[in-house]
Amino acid sequence: MENLISISTLNDFIFCPYSIYLHNVYMETDETLYHATPQARGKVAHETVDKKTYSTRKVDLVSLPVFSESLGVMGKIDLLHINKKTLVERKYQLKQIFRGQLYQLWAQYFCLLEMGYEVEHIAFYEISTNKTIPVNLPTQAEYIELQVFIERFKNYNPDTEIATNQNKCTHCIYCNLCDKTQLDNVYT
Ligand code: SF4
Repeated sequence: MENLISISTLNDFIFCPYSIYLHNVYMETDETLYHATPQARGKVAHETVDKKTYSTRKVDLVSLPVFSESLGVMGKIDLLHINKKTLVERKYQLKQIFRGQLYQLWAQYFCLLEMGYEVEHIAFYEISTNKTIPVNLPTQAEYIELQVFIERFKNYNPDTEIATNQNKCTHCIYCNLCDKTQLDNVYT
């Protein structure tokens, strides 16, 4: 099986492809070196799921590892309500839904279908407001959009010139470790 891309990195790749390269370089190091407040909060949001304490109902599947050979991705879903055929991704806060976050949810959905699960609804759950936000199932055109995006991800070359963006860089957890900018991030 070819190398599978982690679903959790799809959104980061849109934010800045170079951050994925830095993530891979620094992933073995002490996380406190680069983990900033928003990411730490997001991590906590997923902790109950990862520890499988979010739901004990037998009709729920929590923190299930998933993969899709056809898309070339792997990851973990937060929650699948089997009886409601509903896939749910938890986020601490969702002021707006970014394309990359949709890609993550779509990728999880296609993984589940490929693994033989029935899914008819997908949604985000915002922890800070205790709100469920339903999302349309991806269309065929959106499936192709996701495929094209994943191909771009797979073929990314970190030596490619990137146009840095001050606002992005100062909000990037790798800013202080990144050789593409002299800026410091706002979390230090
Ligand atoms: S600091 Fe800027 S260029 Fe470097 S990884 Fe982050 S967003 Fe990309």
